[in-house]
Amino acid sequence: MTHATPPQHMVTRFAPSPTGRLHVGHGWSALMAMDMARAHGGAFRLRIEDIDGTRSRPEHVAGIMEDLAWLGVAWDNDVMVQSQRIEHYDAALGRLRAMGLLYPCFCTRADIQASLTAPHGPEGAIYPGTCRGLEDAERARRIADGDAHAWRIDMGRAVARAGKITWRAPSSPPIIADPLVHGDVVLARKDAPASYHLSCTLDDAAMGVTHVLRGGDLYGATDIHRLLQALLDLPSPFYIHHPLLVGPDGRRLAKRDGAIALADLRAQGMDPARLADDLRDNRFPVGITLGSA
Ligand code: GLU
Repeated sequence: MTHATPPQHMVTRFAPSPTGRLHVGHGWSALMAMDMARAHGGAFRLRIEDIDGTRSRPEHVAGIMEDLAWLGVAWDNDVMVQSQRIEHYDAALGRLRAMGLLYPCFCTRADIQASLTAPHGPEGAIYPGTCRGLEDAERARRIADGDAHAWRIDMGRAVARAGKITWRAPSSPPIIADPLVHGDVVLARKDAPASYHLSCTLDDAAMGVTHVLRGGDLYGATDIHRLLQALLDLPSPFYIHHPLLVGPDGRRLAKRDGAIALADLRAQGMDPARLADDLRDNRFPVGITLGSA
């Protein structure tokens, strides 16, 4: 007897890093993710990506929630906060280490920059693999000596283990993931318990996210997230990458451009319901347009 697969309850999310207040582009992205879930009777969730200890600020967490509430963005369930999930990141790192897929990397940024032959991938310089070849004894000695180190994935081995993998986008044939082009990316940083790639992948799975809607700047990251899902037996959501908004100078909006922060528009007396309607119709404040990313 066969059973029909029950329709999956859609879950979308918005996952800001509290490194500043939200700008119009974040508001637009959050509204789209919320509206998509609502239109399908699903849930929309919020996650605070606050494990970047050098750039995250606790005061921005409250500010971000205030900005979202002002714009009419309301989330379901509890907010997931990455700094409360370190044990899950550690457990996944342990599993990947046990598979022989991670190695400690003692290189500094300057060491990597100095390696002039390093090829470039979609996200900048590819790590040249300097620490991949270290002897186990040397690794153990340097760790015991307290040498600061990150943990990198041995991408060649990981890809060989995962085999051919694809990711899904709605209304599209499967897209072939090519994580090799990113090289041996960092999964645990020297200054943070997990990299964005690892924490984001684990958390999307833990939240039951079925549709990840995010900026086109993260298109390449999807290759890496899909690989981690394959290695860690996690479900793989659909991915939708939206274009980025650009400012009058043609550059993508960034938190440093205070003028387009939601908090500033609010201080200028802008009507949030009208702004939300305009954003839904792709009408942006003066000077802001859709980029091609
Ligand atoms: N925290 C990331 C950011 O602020 C977003 C990550 C994601 O949507 O996957 O850019």
